[in-house]
Amino acid sequence: MPDITIIAAALNSLKTATDIVKFLRESDLSLERAELKLKLADLVGALADTKLELVEVQDTLSEKDKRIVELEEAFQSKDAFVRHYDAYYVADNCGNPTGIPYCLRCWENDHKKRQLVHDARDHQTRVCTSCGHRYEGRMVGTIQPPPKAP
Ligand SMILES: [Zn+2]
Repeated sequence: MPDITIIAAALNSLKTATDIVKFLRESDLSLERAELKLKLADLVGALADTKLELVEVQDTLSEKDKRIVELEEAFQSKDAFVRHYDAYYVADNCGNPTGIPYCLRCWENDHKKRQLVHDARDHQTRVCTSCGHRYEGRMVGTIQPPPKAP
């Protein structure tokens, strides 16, 4: 359910509960015992609905918090991540790509760092473990750091 719809549903349930309480307050003591019980059952039902809807809102918010943390991490490591041919790599101190390749598609679309692994059946191909996109191996090879000067 879209977030705004969940919140609207919760507010609607709360309004129902409030209306029932108002009705009970305004209807002095003339209510039959059976009618009172029925209204109280409606009230409990409306409050239970509200509770469920608020739990859903809470879940949605915590998912969004998680995504914000992911995006903040991606944003912070943006400069330390460089493209080389068809993949992204961690940049060394000089800004050169080094080490294992990461999925171009996942990084550019979702700002997620996902490693590329060798295809078990075809060693010329590397595959993203997340989106399944396939890359030609020679365009996304592992880059060994240059040997250290003596
Ligand atoms: Zn991917």
